[in-house]
Amino acid sequence: MGRLSGRVALVTGAGRGIGAATARRLAEEGARLILADLDVEGCERVAAEIKAAGSEAVAVRCDVSSEADAQQAVTTAVETFGQLDILVNNAGILRDNLLFKMSENDWDGVLNVHLKGAFHCARAAQKPMVERKYGRIINLSSTSALGNRGQANYSAAKAGMQGLTRTLAVELGPFGITANAVAPGFIDTDMTRATAQRLGLTPEQFQQSMTPHIPLRRVGQPSEVASVIAFLASDDASYVSGQVIYIAGGPAGIIM
Ligand code: NAP
Repeated sequence: MGRLSGRVALVTGAGRGIGAATARRLAEEGARLILADLDVEGCERVAAEIKAAGSEAVAVRCDVSSEADAQQAVTTAVETFGQLDILVNNAGILRDNLLFKMSENDWDGVLNVHLKGAFHCARAAQKPMVERKYGRIINLSSTSALGNRGQANYSAAKAGMQGLTRTLAVELGPFGITANAVAPGFIDTDMTRATAQRLGLTPEQFQQSMTPHIPLRRVGQPSEVASVIAFLASDDASYVSGQVIYIAGGPAGIIM
């Protein structure tokens, strides 16, 4: 019996990176999974791995910036497994640029996926959670919430995720629902690899340039974010709500 046995979890952006690692970890701990992503083939690959390991998982195509898609992902969870207990708002994109070069599309694209996507999914998920007086919502923020050059859009979205998290904790607490955020620093995924490429560096060169600024002197792995999300999703965190946990190999707010 795992810590999450009997629970049903919906993870957005579960086709790769932190979302895929989170889906695998929640399944290992006993949860049944809905994996939602624009990239449904990626979700299907992760769902197949989870099923091969003996758990249940369903892949759905979902653009979280669409209200209808977010609602459909929640409906799929309830129709397939009868309930929804855990929501991980993880889907994300980067459209980095210095402010004077940042387009309205760059701004809207990032805000629409991270912040509006989390709003859509949380609003759809709260209904089955409130009905059962139980829920766990975990939002992906970032150390960039504290400000980061070239990321006006992303920093605003990730700071917004923290305000959204605190407000969800306040509004949904009376219904037995907790809401928390995790704020990773540098995690080795396709997202940071794409940033390396944009800067004209190999992923290894980019990581080497960052590690002297990280107290633990290494970048993080997706599994190291997934394990904290699993804790927040479990009853080990039953009295933790409205918090932001930085997963950055050091304290939040150091100059990177
Ligand atoms: P990733 O490897 O780029 O994966 C992101 C996933 O989200 C992809 O599968 C992507 O699908 C999906 N996605 C993008 N737009 C979507 C949409 N509109 N609807 C549904 N799914 C969508 O990123 P990651 O590094 O794992 O990051 C996961 C989360 O952690 C993000 O919120 C990110 O901001 C946050 N985070 C990451 C780091 C880091 O260092 N990696 C640090 C702090 C916070 P496609 O493949 O179709 O694009």
